[in-house]
Amino acid sequence: QPSGKVIYLTFDDGPGVYTDELLAVLEKYNAKVTFFAVGTNTNLERNLKAIAAAGHSIGIHTVTHEYAEIYANKDAFLKDMYDMQALIQKHTGITTTLMRFPGGSSNRLSDNKCDMKQLVRTVTDLGFQYFDWNVDSDDAGQARKKDTVLENVTEGLSWHSTAIVLQHDIQPFSVEAVEEIIVWGLENGFTFLPLQPDSPN
Ligand code: ZN
Repeated sequence: QPSGKVIYLTFDDGPGVYTDELLAVLEKYNAKVTFFAVGTNTNLERNLKAIAAAGHSIGIHTVTHEYAEIYANKDAFLKDMYDMQALIQKHTGITTTLMRFPGGSSNRLSDNKCDMKQLVRTVTDLGFQYFDWNVDSDDAGQARKKDTVLENVTEGLSWHSTAIVLQHDIQPFSVEAVEEIIVWGLENGFTFLPLQPDSPN
């Protein structure tokens, strides 16, 4: 495990049209992050190749992200999860076992059709590592401006020495906040690392 203060920036629901801009900022500061990818956006192959080439981690966030479908039952979830793993493998050559459940591992989105505790156990037994987050930018919620994202993230980071930050690279204002998040993190002694199978979750 890394020593010192660590920020794992994670970007869900992409890659998409703002991913190039994000990759450029990350390269400028040599910051490595994690993308929990879905399979439905344009230019998936090109974006995944660029992410992999830059040395970021890629994780599974399901192909469709459609709660009603993926959480209909355990088999539906597993099929979609393996489909996304295969898609990432096809485009990058990387067989990732990193995973993030849409809505998080303790969500109630499945309306109790899917027992999340059992699903989490099954996925773990199958050799996947799922990651939730302890700092939420709220960029899929109330935050609608760069400055709000920045405030939410820096406020959250002040409480953690090992932080997993939730952002979405399909939100342009959230991508715009990344440079200032990195500068703040570096000034406050954090290192930016990509999630690995043995990273704390
Ligand atoms: Zn998501």
